[in-house]
Amino acid sequence: MSQQDSAWRFATRAIHGGHDAAGHQGALNPPIYWSSTFAFASAEQGAARFAGEEPGMIYSRVTNPTVANLETRLAALENGEAAVAFGSGMGAITSLVWTTLRPGDEMLVDLTLYGCTHSLAHHLLPEFGIVVKAADFTDPDNLRGHLGPRTKLVFFETPANPNMRLTDIAAVSALVHEASPALVAVDNTYCTPYLQRPLDLGADVVVHSLTKYINGHGDVIAGAAVGRKEIIDPMRWVGIKEMTGACLSPMDAYLVLRGLKTLPIRMDRHCASAGAIAEFLAGHPAVARVDYPGLASHPQHELARRQMAQPGAMIAFELKGGLEAGRRFINALELITRAVSLGDAESLAQHPASMTHSSYDAEERERHLISDGLVRLSVGLEDVRDLLADLETALAAAA
Ligand SMILES: *Cc1c(COP(=O)(O)O)cnc(C)c1O
Repeated sequence: MSQQDSAWRFATRAIHGGHDAAGHQGALNPPIYWSSTFAFASAEQGAARFAGEEPGMIYSRVTNPTVANLETRLAALENGEAAVAFGSGMGAITSLVWTTLRPGDEMLVDLTLYGCTHSLAHHLLPEFGIVVKAADFTDPDNLRGHLGPRTKLVFFETPANPNMRLTDIAAVSALVHEASPALVAVDNTYCTPYLQRPLDLGADVVVHSLTKYINGHGDVIAGAAVGRKEIIDPMRWVGIKEMTGACLSPMDAYLVLRGLKTLPIRMDRHCASAGAIAEFLAGHPAVARVDYPGLASHPQHELARRQMAQPGAMIAFELKGGLEAGRRFINALELITRAVSLGDAESLAQHPASMTHSSYDAEERERHLISDGLVRLSVGLEDVRDLLADLETALAAAA
């Protein structure tokens, strides 16, 4: 980020951050560097690049100019020192855990996690000798008994996927740093840095699925991590280079750079429509409960106002009639697409118990607060009147 970048406001950084047109023959858009490898001027230069003593490209699994452009922009948006991009959000999360944890180390996670993160933490990491503990992070005091010298990573999402529970990032970060050497990692996929900046609140590292709002157009799988250089460098030089190999293609980096240009206006519209839909659902007789941080009825509404610029555009709700009503509702939708993923222009609805969170068994779903009747809605950018009409019809079919 140049001196000038740091003075720019968010929307300006989302468009211009990391791109130096003068270095690319004036090209308004960054060229896509389709090259797996990069020439060294001499043996000495190659050695200096491998030793990290000279900046410059080596090989596109580790560094690529188009990907670097995206990384610089993401660091600027999250107010981080450095960023590294990955081939997926799970690539970011696995690179983080393999870089940070060794056998005997402990990882503490919130009760609710994205399905694949849950599987990784609870089913796979223990097979490698890592001790994984879970606590209800909605009350930071619940972390106290679980932190110690072996705790190396504390990981959570806020709002959590799919049930919209929030974690107080500032309170949890302060507590963890006082009681353990652990890094505090926040999955900021649901919010994007436009709505919430965990590093400003004391977290050490932010991970993203760029697949969702940040790209925003449903045509890319990508991920990233942002934080201090001392944390991000090993994620690149060990995590991605030697452990996961989860590198991002230059074409996909270009598409995410393009998507990012409209992030603020997309998020404003996503949030405005979601607010209207949450109000509508909360007043509908077929709906038992709506989990949306923008509603005064959300148990952590005050925290949402403090920590998030807007309440986001993900809504979870429970229909009267549970699982069966949920199925009838999902099947009656005509405009809203039945699909997993989120953050696209298209509104998407899914049923966590049978889709994204099917890697939890029934007992785990209950323990981790994912009810069988829960429906998850990602509010897209269509005209909100058309979305409300579709919901009205589907709710009638569910009742
Ligand atoms: C989608 C998602 C991920 C995984 O990202 P991929 O890009 O699909 O690998 C991780 N965390 C959250 C909260 C997500 O929604």
